[in-house]
Amino acid sequence: MSQKTKGEFEKYIQQQIDLGYNEVYMPFDSRPKAQAKVRALSIERFSESKNLAQLEKTIADCQRCTLWKGANKLVFGTGNSNADIMFVGEAPGADEDMQGKPFVGRAGKLLDKMLVDVGISRDEVYITNVIKHRPPGNRDPLPDEVEPCEPYLHMQIKYIKPKVLCALGRIAGQTLLQTKMNLGDMRKRWFDYQGIKLMVTYHPAAILRSMGYMEPTMEDLRKLLAEVTKMREAE
Ligand code: SF4
Repeated sequence: MSQKTKGEFEKYIQQQIDLGYNEVYMPFDSRPKAQAKVRALSIERFSESKNLAQLEKTIADCQRCTLWKGANKLVFGTGNSNADIMFVGEAPGADEDMQGKPFVGRAGKLLDKMLVDVGISRDEVYITNVIKHRPPGNRDPLPDEVEPCEPYLHMQIKYIKPKVLCALGRIAGQTLLQTKMNLGDMRKRWFDYQGIKLMVTYHPAAILRSMGYMEPTMEDLRKLLAEVTKMREAE
């Protein structure tokens, strides 16, 4: 493609975005590149947000993957926007999809109880998911869904600036660490996420399936609280 054609092509894509289109008709062989360009331009737009509230507003009508079609509500995240502790799960389930809030179903209630038991109040944390719309039937999100959605998560972390991040489950851990490691290999160690301490533990939904995961997760949460307490005391 010549420089002139490339310039015209980019101008056309930008015009379509300005008009609010999320998909642009292109000849088949150029469509993947065109979609990549649309995504790149869209990211620039979302990254213009200045804070968490603006980001939430900006992505309210996101259609960057197809999950919005089968979902009721976008589930952005809830909690303290200055939280020292931020939890990241995988994706909304049925209850979250109905209420537009993360971790409000059985798994969320279990998480609340576990937090209280180790001495962490839900009001002092922020909770979100990698994916903001519910995948049908609670299936694992596909790479094509994680890739367009994960920039929102990175921006949420940037605005909240937690002292410690806790990934709940394999998908959250793999996404934040950009790794293919399994959960067993990610657990019981601290990682660095852009200068923020990060730990990976079991998702509460996994505990509901097998109570054997309960005590190891409680152990992880106690470690997490000890680390945050140490950091607060050092300030
Ligand atoms: S899941 Fe994420 S990328 Fe897909 S439509 Fe919803 S907000 Fe957009």
